[in-house]
Amino acid sequence: MYEDAVELAKRRGFFWPSFSIYGGFAGFYDYGPLGVLLKDNIVKIWKEEYLDDGAIFLDSPNVTPEPVFQASGHIARFSDLASECDQCKNKFKLETVLGFNKISSIPKSLKDAEELVEKYNLKCPVCGSVIKKVYDFNLMYRVSGDYYLRPETAQGIFVNFRLLNNYNRGKIPMVVGQQGKGFRNEISPRQSLIRLREFNQCEVEVFLDPENLKFAELYDYKKIKIRPNTGEDLYISVKEAYGKKIISNQAFAYFVLKTQVILEKIGISNDKLRFRQHEPDERAHYAADSWDAEGLIDDEWFEIVGIANRTDFDLRNHENSSGNQMRIKINEKDVIPYVIEPSYGIDRILLTLISQSMEKKDGKNLLRLPYYMAPYHIAVFPLMKKDNLKEKAEELYSKLKKVDSYILYDETGTIGKRYARQDEVGTPFCITIDYQTLEDNTVTLRNRDTAEQERIKIKDVLDSNFIKNLIENKSKL
Ligand code: AMP
Repeated sequence: MYEDAVELAKRRGFFWPSFSIYGGFAGFYDYGPLGVLLKDNIVKIWKEEYLDDGAIFLDSPNVTPEPVFQASGHIARFSDLASECDQCKNKFKLETVLGFNKISSIPKSLKDAEELVEKYNLKCPVCGSVIKKVYDFNLMYRVSGDYYLRPETAQGIFVNFRLLNNYNRGKIPMVVGQQGKGFRNEISPRQSLIRLREFNQCEVEVFLDPENLKFAELYDYKKIKIRPNTGEDLYISVKEAYGKKIISNQAFAYFVLKTQVILEKIGISNDKLRFRQHEPDERAHYAADSWDAEGLIDDEWFEIVGIANRTDFDLRNHENSSGNQMRIKINEKDVIPYVIEPSYGIDRILLTLISQSMEKKDGKNLLRLPYYMAPYHIAVFPLMKKDNLKEKAEELYSKLKKVDSYILYDETGTIGKRYARQDEVGTPFCITIDYQTLEDNTVTLRNRDTAEQERIKIKDVLDSNFIKNLIENKSKL
């Protein structure tokens, strides 16, 4: 469904490659009119779910001065091993070249990589020439002088830790979220929204007492695929995974569970979601343990959320580098808190949602988004443009917009085409004004998933709770 999703996204205005009139530039995508609304809905669920856990939020700059990334280790270590073909000049992640050459060992350092290149005649995946050049490629964009575009939103939260904790009246655990852009000069951007150079993150930093890595109570929830780095796939609940010590601390387990619930609420299916623990040599430089929430598109798993135990790594480094204390009093002791970070990649979540929600029904596309996630809740149509039907439909449309902002009006094409258009972009309900409306002030209400229609009084449609009930009571959950 990936190809179909990308085709639909471009044709119907969810997302498309940026700057295409100038030939397009790899790794940059625009959100179109429907994509903007769908993305907002994803962020809204994330925000509301974390508000439930008492989160506070921050909005800090994209452009960040060098000392921040010196301290965080990004200047020294936020890099990928890269290779370049001397013949065709294409650049690749070394991983890609190794995969293409069917070599499974992954080098851990530049020295290892150079030895590998020396040992095997690695072929360029594009032109087949032998690859000789490998190097460390820092993924950060340097904007000018001593400034960088942030590769993650997290550092803005860390450098503000004391201000945020004062705001929070010194309380710990403290949950801080930030929604914003991240920038990475990816060597090989690919698969539309999967690997972008500018992307949307919703990051959460949970500050905890290192001696009490607990958050709210873990509750029993649906079983899910869990793949620890030490053993085989399990199909158990997150609570059981914690009970069996597969997930090392309670707070970490809580945010894995939280992520499962959030993704499911967004519309990612539980059976196309898994949690996979990183191998030790796969972790980012700041992480002591990492698990990815991975979504299934066709038969490939993609990381959509990264959950990391960042320990006190970032705060400690900022304390050392800036000379400003990052310690707070916990039980009479001066302590640097530990951090658990669930980091949500909004673009990948959106792509996974569209891909997983697409169905073919009688040769036509149907986007089965949960009702409350749909960019528009209701589309209003006149059956025809004549005999006062259009005026009546416009009147209803403008009244409905006072009750709910996410209403569309469409009068172009046959009624069948208009239904198909809305099914394809996930609009859960369509209202049609027809000749009977003129007689008895009733309309037809059509459901996207069943294509069934019922007659309903205009007076009832305009009731302030009607749309709310429609979109909230029925969802995939
Ligand atoms: P990370 O800090 O690498 O764990 O990233 C956190 C989340 O951001 C990932 O789970 C992805 O969903 C998303 N992400 C990271 N890099 C990219 C990228 N280049 N393009 C799109 N999304 C990304």
